[in-house]
Amino acid sequence: MPEPVANSSAAGEPRPTHQVRGRFAPSPTGPLHFGSLVTALASFLDARTRGGTWHVRIEDLDRARCHRSHADTILRQLESHGLTWDGDIVWQGSRGERYADILASLTAAGRIYACACSRQDIAAEAALVIEQGQPHPEAYPGTCRHGLPPGRKARSYRLAVPPELVEFVDRIQGPVSQDVAAEVGDFVVKRADGPYAYQLAVVADDAALGITDVVRGADLLDSTARQIALHRLLGWPVPRYAHVPLAVDRHGRKLSKQNLAPTLGQHPAARELADALGFLGLPPPADLARSNTAELLSWAIAHFDLGRIPSVPATPALPAYCGA
Ligand code: GLU
Repeated sequence: MPEPVANSSAAGEPRPTHQVRGRFAPSPTGPLHFGSLVTALASFLDARTRGGTWHVRIEDLDRARCHRSHADTILRQLESHGLTWDGDIVWQGSRGERYADILASLTAAGRIYACACSRQDIAAEAALVIEQGQPHPEAYPGTCRHGLPPGRKARSYRLAVPPELVEFVDRIQGPVSQDVAAEVGDFVVKRADGPYAYQLAVVADDAALGITDVVRGADLLDSTARQIALHRLLGWPVPRYAHVPLAVDRHGRKLSKQNLAPTLGQHPAARELADALGFLGLPPPADLARSNTAELLSWAIAHFDLGRIPSVPATPALPAYCGA
């Protein structure tokens, strides 16, 4: 196991916590839709049923795609569905200094290198290794690990991933293991002239908030081993993870802003909340049909059990207005 770098003061100590702390971390690239309500609700209930706190972080690192107006809409949508958060909202756009400190401590530990490879370079390399029948052609091949090729400029900074299997038990998806070095390769933590990468920022911020339980969409399951590897390298406690099945439309596509999933708010908030509870395996009883969001949520807090969330996408559980 590699030595953690966290004893350096630059990496800092995350605050120890025994209390459950959950979070919802939307990227403000558009308003929330039914799929994002499902993940927000699962995370909220998981924290609240155990007397924990629940935090909101706006992941606005990608300035070209993120807009303040979308963030404002998302916060209003959470409030109108009764999903109220604790503490101040964290804005990733204002956390650059913290990310820089962490990058500096990883660099000092010899874990970061400059990389000149473009997407085309990596695709060309992948085509070669496919021909050779190598098992993980999509993994970064480590071209720049021992220095930039002569005359080439840095396009990004990558983490030199330690060769170890990352194993964890996802609270919904079950046991997961990934050899990050072999299957993903050294991954980007910052663009040379652009933002810090999601993987670095999410680990920095989950640690700073003392998050104990990450509950989010299953599309991020594949990022989790990378995040655990980073938490470990930094010597920080690793949160527990739970990946909620994605809400998919009748074509099997994830409901997303990109494929124009209907925005929340086209139906009364209580109905959307009841539908999201149904998706999570907790349909409210008929006598709650006329309840408001607060009543539904207090019933849900008394009855929610993360273990009852189905691990596979439940298309029939999707309301008709989502294109099921
Ligand atoms: N910002 C990500 C999204 O909107 C979620 C990141 C996370 O929960 O770790 O999909």
